[in-house]
Amino acid sequence: MTYTDYELTFPKPDLLVNRKDLDFFLFDWLKIDSKDQTSPPRSLMDKAEVSALLDKASAIAREKMVPFAAAIDENQPRLEDGNIYITPEVKEILQTLIEEDFWSLFARTGKYKGRFSEAVECALLTIFSSSEVSSVSYLGLALAAARLVDSFCSPELKEKYLQPMYDGRFFGTMVLSETEHGSTLSHIQTTADLQADGSYHIKGEKTWISAGDHDLSENNIHMVLARTPDAPEGIRGISLFLVPKFPVNDDHSLDERNGYDIVRINPKMGARSYVNNLMRFGDTSPCLGYLVGQENHGLAYMFQMMNESRISVGQGAAVTGYAGYQYSLAYAKWRVQGKSMTAGKGDPQAPIINHPDIRRMLLMQKCYVEGSMALCMYASDIHDKLLHAETDEERNNLFNYYEFLTPIVKSYPSEWSLEANKLAIQVLGGAGYVRLHPVECFYRNNRINAIHEGTHGVQAVDLLGRKIARSDGKELNILTAQIKKTCQKAEDMAEVGDLSRDLSRRLDQVLNVTEELLEINRNGNRVQFLADSTAFLDMMGHLIVGWLWLDMSVTAIQKLNGQSDDVDIDFLNGKRHACQFYFERELPKIDGWINSLLSEKSVLLDINENGF
Ligand SMILES: Cc1cc2nc3c(=O)[nH]c(=O)nc-3n(C[C@H](O)[C@H](O)[C@H](O)COP(=O)(O)OP(=O)(O)OC[C@H]3O[C@@H](n4cnc5c(N)ncnc54)[C@H](O)[C@@H]3O)c2cc1C
Repeated sequence: MTYTDYELTFPKPDLLVNRKDLDFFLFDWLKIDSKDQTSPPRSLMDKAEVSALLDKASAIAREKMVPFAAAIDENQPRLEDGNIYITPEVKEILQTLIEEDFWSLFARTGKYKGRFSEAVECALLTIFSSSEVSSVSYLGLALAAARLVDSFCSPELKEKYLQPMYDGRFFGTMVLSETEHGSTLSHIQTTADLQADGSYHIKGEKTWISAGDHDLSENNIHMVLARTPDAPEGIRGISLFLVPKFPVNDDHSLDERNGYDIVRINPKMGARSYVNNLMRFGDTSPCLGYLVGQENHGLAYMFQMMNESRISVGQGAAVTGYAGYQYSLAYAKWRVQGKSMTAGKGDPQAPIINHPDIRRMLLMQKCYVEGSMALCMYASDIHDKLLHAETDEERNNLFNYYEFLTPIVKSYPSEWSLEANKLAIQVLGGAGYVRLHPVECFYRNNRINAIHEGTHGVQAVDLLGRKIARSDGKELNILTAQIKKTCQKAEDMAEVGDLSRDLSRRLDQVLNVTEELLEINRNGNRVQFLADSTAFLDMMGHLIVGWLWLDMSVTAIQKLNGQSDDVDIDFLNGKRHACQFYFERELPKIDGWINSLLSEKSVLLDINENGF
């Protein structure tokens, strides 16, 4: 058999989502269809409606997305005569999502206005993003920009720009980064000069701009951070401007192209059809911009889009890891190599899933990616609850809790689902390293997630240095209460009682080290407090995902012990096994991070630059 013939016998999955997982998350675990829960009002979407949406999304993904994903990865955007052209399959996918009403669902408009569930949205994105990532990225960015316009623009600007953005006719971007100003935006150089008619002229260079130009929509609406001439220094002097590719006239027709140039397409490692640009505003002709909200409040407004995007990054990372896991699982069940350890003389070779080391890698992937998805689903559910909170106190508490969760939701999947993608390649052996299988592409696509929307290090400082420090640790109260609730449920269950006690102990460890760090902060030793903040972020992520695994395991056990005949015993036991594995192999990593957090920082600080 030639290698090509051999490869063709591998039954490639036509969809990389196990629907049982989505049903488990939504209906068994989060109980989004439960009638007895009022916050958020669960009756907004019932099980039948959600199931029909998941079916419809799966059919679109199977027919219109998966078959084109490899071509979309290969055929990179082209810059010609100042315009960017994207491979047409992306536009076809986006058009399908618009025609089939998914754009309006994600926009929360039309018949979905006021009755969407973010947890369902998260499940739908799992189906779409695991099938083709670039098209979904355009959608997510466009709608986040639309919501920014909706929240902060004047009625006049909204009248011209908002509806076409919600309808998918105009796409949007977020334009923050400059060549010399990435993680720290306080010194951005782009300027905005007021004109006699109340508009502004924007001038400056911006880089790393996703979707900076393309032929996927009628218009591109750039949300640009810039400074007015007399603005205060630092972040208090940053304003936000709406900069259209084609300004919209009073009669809603499109004017001449605005004065900015696409200097280059940044050649990316992954998600290559999701174009990324270096742009120059007002370089060759004046570039018109409109002030959003009040001058000098721009960064605060932009945080709405940044926070939303951070959650999306976590979801995208989780899904990309999940897709790699599903693919490598299918491969491990198919690929025959070597005998199982328990085989006798003369027994045939076995599929590699029989080897303990392959099982280890599959279990690690399962733990990371399903744990990441649980984290994203849980955060979506908290956001649903926040939007439907009935009192100010409840709203404030949930808002602060969601803010605390945001860097963790962004970062845990970005780190650990990427690790899962690495393991997926390993499971495939040589086949994992070549482009005949998508696992190498998943790895490339996922690598960005720990970098954009604030790097891993920036998220860590945000979590410890801002969110934990500003509340002196009070942000942990809701989390602590929820973890204790799960531990109580699990304590008397024979299957997970010991895990419950382990989690309680780990929680105490984490709370104690947090208190020690806060004491260091109170004493003004900022270096000792923050130097190992990534260890704090990683520790917190591992604790929370461990808790979610225990909570899911409790759900699985309750379902297994229930009266129903239609339970899938293997599937539910799979959740229990993964939880057990996580507690045995992953939670102990917390000890290492605690050691780092409490260590002297001399090992980080004393080495001379020339010693590296
Ligand atoms: C594919 C892609 C898409 C992007 N999309 C957009 C977009 O649409 N719009 C947009 O405006 N930007 C976008 N970005 C920019 C992205 O947000 C930045 O790359 C990111 O914020 C990091 O900034 P930087 O690249 O300048 O790295 P730097 O800020 O130079 O950071 C380099 C390293 O130093 C670390 N570091 C920096 N400061 C500190 C500190 N104070 N403490 C500890 N460590 C620190 C960082 O964690 C990182 O590891 C995109 C980038 C990429 C690659």
